[in-house]
Amino acid sequence: MKKTKRIGVLTSGGDSQGMNACLKTITMTAEKYNYQVIAFLGGYQGLLDDNFKVITSKEAAPYFHLGGSFIKSGRSKDFEDDEKRKAAKKVYKNHELEALIVLGGDGSIRGAFDLQKMGLNVVVIPCTIDNDAFCTERAIGFDTAVNNAVNAIDSIQQTMSANDRILLVEVMGRYCGDVALYSGLGSESDIIMIPEKKQKEEKIIREIAKQLNAGNKSPTVVIAEHQLNVQKLATKIETELSWECRAVVLGYIQRGGAPTMQDRLLAIRMGVASIECIINKTFGVVVSLNDDKINFKSFEEAIKAGKQFKEELWNTFLEMKRFKTIKKKSLQKK
Ligand code: ADP
Repeated sequence: MKKTKRIGVLTSGGDSQGMNACLKTITMTAEKYNYQVIAFLGGYQGLLDDNFKVITSKEAAPYFHLGGSFIKSGRSKDFEDDEKRKAAKKVYKNHELEALIVLGGDGSIRGAFDLQKMGLNVVVIPCTIDNDAFCTERAIGFDTAVNNAVNAIDSIQQTMSANDRILLVEVMGRYCGDVALYSGLGSESDIIMIPEKKQKEEKIIREIAKQLNAGNKSPTVVIAEHQLNVQKLATKIETELSWECRAVVLGYIQRGGAPTMQDRLLAIRMGVASIECIINKTFGVVVSLNDDKINFKSFEEAIKAGKQFKEELWNTFLEMKRFKTIKKKSLQKK
């Protein structure tokens, strides 16, 4: 009897829109090459506990256009323990897996590297709304998160404008400013605060005052998380500038919802590429996108990769800001 060829898959860490589209692609492509796909539920913990189910493209298909992960994602403390992590190898061997595909972000790549060092064949597909897997220009989920943030900021700006209020919006990104930079630009916000371009609170308040003086009665500030307390800053601004100010933490709205076309496309391209890696026995790599081409970065390269800050985008933002202030000033003079 012909032996069943098997591969494993799991979604780890924070979920991101497009994981399901990628799972559909992985199962479809795997079936083409006669692989059975074993999904470990809830990330690395599912692998340690051998909590699994066999998934097919038929089962994955209805989730293609949905956010989240139908095989559940999650974090695992046990997995970070060298002793407890050994269970992963047993499970992998018992299922006679040819390889394991991990869908996750920066932390999951580090975990995958540990598995590779234990002798497992692993391929990672970068999925994170924070875009902090620096070996790839874009990870699956980032585009949708930014679009969600832009739509939310657009909506809130309308009510702020009607009431002449300053708006502070905190967006996600962990320690990476991409969500703030892209959504700040996309929503034509007036000020952006990101960890890559550190600015003191006082400078932000001066900038807001400048905007108010130039005739902008409802300036918007987009702030990447983990830099300051936005509620406290709003109170300080109201006191110092005597102008109403509202703080909004966008939160999980950025993580949910249907993946954009860009994320679906990336999920399809990377999903197919991950199976090709297995066919070609290219293991220990992160499927990456650079110059719009799919390529493969070793785990070492991926972990060492530093942030490539989009200076050009930041400069574009500064240029637009200058232009907007001038325009508003000239309107005020009429
Ligand atoms: P993400 O992959 O979205 O960045 P996390 O950073 O939470 O999410 O990582 C997901 C999981 O990967 C963690 O719960 C842990 O099990 C594993 N992991 C994270 N960092 C490491 C590490 N340095 N070594 C081994 N495993 C790790």
